[in-house]
Amino acid sequence: MVGAGAVVAGCASEPAGGKGWMPNQYNVAANWPVQVKGRVPIDSSNPAIDRDDTKCILCGQCLEVCKNVVSVYGYYELPIQNDITCIHCGQCTMWCPTGAITERNEIKKVQAALASADQHVIVQTAPAIRVALGEEFNLPPGSLVQGQQVTALKKAGFDAVFDTSWSADLTIMEEASELIKRLTTGKALPHFTSCCPGWVKFAEYFYADLQPHLSSCKSPQQMLGAVAKSYYAKEKGIAPEQIFSVAVMPCTAKKFECQRPEMNAAGILRGNPAIRDVDVVLTTRELANLLKSNGIDLSRLVDTPYDSVLGESTGAGVIFGATGGVTEAAVRTAYYLVTRQDPPAALLQWENVRGLKGVKEASVELPGVGTVKVAVCHGLRDARVVLEKVRKQQSDWHFIEFMACPGGCIGGGGQPRTSLPPSDEVRKARMANLYKLDGTAVKRASYQNKEVMDLYQKFLHAPLSEESESLLHTHYVDRSHQLKPKEKV
Ligand code: SF4
Ligand code: SF4
Repeated sequence: MVGAGAVVAGCASEPAGGKGWMPNQYNVAANWPVQVKGRVPIDSSNPAIDRDDTKCILCGQCLEVCKNVVSVYGYYELPIQNDITCIHCGQCTMWCPTGAITERNEIKKVQAALASADQHVIVQTAPAIRVALGEEFNLPPGSLVQGQQVTALKKAGFDAVFDTSWSADLTIMEEASELIKRLTTGKALPHFTSCCPGWVKFAEYFYADLQPHLSSCKSPQQMLGAVAKSYYAKEKGIAPEQIFSVAVMPCTAKKFECQRPEMNAAGILRGNPAIRDVDVVLTTRELANLLKSNGIDLSRLVDTPYDSVLGESTGAGVIFGATGGVTEAAVRTAYYLVTRQDPPAALLQWENVRGLKGVKEASVELPGVGTVKVAVCHGLRDARVVLEKVRKQQSDWHFIEFMACPGGCIGGGGQPRTSLPPSDEVRKARMANLYKLDGTAVKRASYQNKEVMDLYQKFLHAPLSEESESLLHTHYVDRSHQLKPKEKV
């Protein structure tokens, strides 16, 4: 029988970093789902993932993806030590054939905020939403609905609609500055990206010894949240306590991330640590349900631009949604920061870091700095091979991008379940339109974002300044004591 079990077993034996993600690697339509018994452990305190036991048929698809794509289940010794190991990536929600596993539904919290006369309700939408939300409204995979989703959110009652691509540009200003500091001092190389909360929690569990390599930059979601309840609040004369901050993400792990205790930077600045930088995260699927419950048909709407002062974005901010996008964006700005010149055309279409190969490698000459070697991983099974090389000091990479989900956020665990299980055709269609947006953008690099530059001029002063460090940077925890990794899987 050809089924998920057989195909996934084939993946496991495929050398990671070699052939990478094969087309349709997980598109095992024939005889799918197979009869693999069991399921991943999900407890009721999981902030991101929920399961309806009445729908679960114990087919084992969630086990397969959690083990062979995400590489969490099966990578620790049983019995479980003191918590149920989960990085909240939500890939199990994409594979579950009956819809028993879903995100933790938080639509009601948003509806309550929208109904409240006292609250100024803001929303940010991640780069990957604009090429996936349309699929929930019967548009073809990858359809670009950026302007329509802004209109839809306004119709739903949000007071301001911001673009997480704006804060992706902000992230790049901080992260490229951090990278250059590390490159010039030789400290904590290779530099690991930190914008994927699934990857971050994975590192906290399994590679806590490598934490000094993690960038201290918060994710774009959390940067925007912190800036909205400080800078935006000040610019508009709104009390931070009055702002209810919603993030629409392709991601279930972002629900976990916004609840991390340390994500209250604007509250600390205000002297009220109870204020959360982001109050609620909705997935793309939840947003579609919220719009439908309001009778809003996205496909029929005209375009509206994002709101100032957190609404401008560059092509670099938009490609954050695809694997390799963070690397390409970071290097464009790093080039500018060391040369004060725009990056060459090759860095505006850096094919070596694009696409669905499991581990991508490339290098670039940064004048005055030298050759910078990068690696890009998506899906954490392949990441383990890269991480073991770093752990054994057998690598010569300077910068490594990690994303938990295959394809990056366009393939996130909160995206529409357009194909079951997720297919590379859908991932490619979404990626193609993000790169198209970048290719046609007037501004292609983060340092060209005027609204981000205004933020520095008026509020943060400079990347890595004391103000930037307190609002935009974070720290990590060591979760290695919560599990005993398996020596051999
Ligand atoms: S959310 Fe991710 S880590 Fe958690 S059970 Fe599902 S696939 Fe595994
Ligand atoms: S790759 Fe993107 S969607 Fe997936 S866990 Fe990471 S941030 Fe979330």
